[in-house]
Amino acid sequence: MNPILDNHCHLDSERGMGIAAVEDFSKSGGTHMLIVNQHSWKDGKNPTDITDFEERFYQTMEIVERATEILQGRAWSVLGIHPALISRLVEGGQTAEEAGEFMCDGLNIAAGLIGKGDAIALKSGRPHYEVSEEIWEISNVVLRHAISLAAKMGIAVQLHTETTEDLSEVSDWAMEMGLPWQKIVKHFAGGSCRGVTPSVISRMEELERAIRNGKPFMMETDYLDDPRRPGAVLGIKTVPKRTKLLRESGHERLMEMAHVETPKMVYGIETKETE
Ligand SMILES: [Zn+2]
Repeated sequence: MNPILDNHCHLDSERGMGIAAVEDFSKSGGTHMLIVNQHSWKDGKNPTDITDFEERFYQTMEIVERATEILQGRAWSVLGIHPALISRLVEGGQTAEEAGEFMCDGLNIAAGLIGKGDAIALKSGRPHYEVSEEIWEISNVVLRHAISLAAKMGIAVQLHTETTEDLSEVSDWAMEMGLPWQKIVKHFAGGSCRGVTPSVISRMEELERAIRNGKPFMMETDYLDDPRRPGAVLGIKTVPKRTKLLRESGHERLMEMAHVETPKMVYGIETKETE
């Protein structure tokens, strides 16, 4: 088996393709997936209680179980709180501080599930759009809380952040807290990002940049499985298709790095041996 891992995708078994997307991925040669929970305001309604977070986490864990039955390899859950939630909660009348505390509560629940072995990594970050200074500061408090949880548990964190190719500020925080910077993963990264491990959005030009760089990276689609937003991100077959293409064009070594060595270094997972 030649492992092919999509490092960040979402599945919606109610409104999207759900498990059929896993079948497509598998038929295209994909073997492993990291499935990230959908954000908590999916129905246009803000979460009001931590059970709203839990519901999303359990949905993700359930689909991961079903995906694992289909895949030649397996799927894993990544659980956390989308950083854009803070703006929605503040618009809904909460103070930034209250919103931040609520988001940290959600991260604590996610960490608990990871501790039980139900998921492998946390998801956190900070807004990718312009926000007030207060929201930015509190967002960084939430982000640092996620890193501190990850440091205590020795696990990885996937980050949704502003568009940047330098997150050394964040990796400095991680190292101060005792988390190796390699375990900080920038989701939706371009071909390179200083201070963290990039999870490169699998557009050909970004993959080519990552390859020229030659540093550890992973590949993702950020597949949304949302029929109302077709083409908002890449299709579920993109990672297998581009990986095959790159393997055939002489990048076997770097594809091994993207699908085997980097996932092992970051999450401690084996994509070669999992059946
Ligand atoms: Zn995503």
